[in-house]
Amino acid sequence: MTSLEEAHRNVPFECRGCWHVWEEHYTVRTIEDDHGNAGVIWLRGGLPVTPPAAGTVCPHCGCQQVTTFPDGYLARHPELITPSEPVVPDATPLLSPVPKPLY
Ligand SMILES: [Zn+2]
Repeated sequence: MTSLEEAHRNVPFECRGCWHVWEEHYTVRTIEDDHGNAGVIWLRGGLPVTPPAAGTVCPHCGCQQVTTFPDGYLARHPELITPSEPVVPDATPLLSPVPKPLY
């Protein structure tokens, strides 16, 4: 038996460079096999990504000094989100200055 669980998480981020606050939606897939070996895969838009806070880049200024909040933090602090145009996720590719990891 292999168990597979999926959870959806909105992870809030804050940039230490420009104090931009935003959220990223992730699917967290937890897989456990017969032997109790558990693996966690973070997905965004159906593609595996690095877990949040590891290599996250501010979409506003490109700064890599980014912190995360606990889940649901922004729901309790809506004033942190600056009202702006509606977010259209993945409408344009993010241009990341971080080199992709070589496999
Ligand atoms: Zn920034």
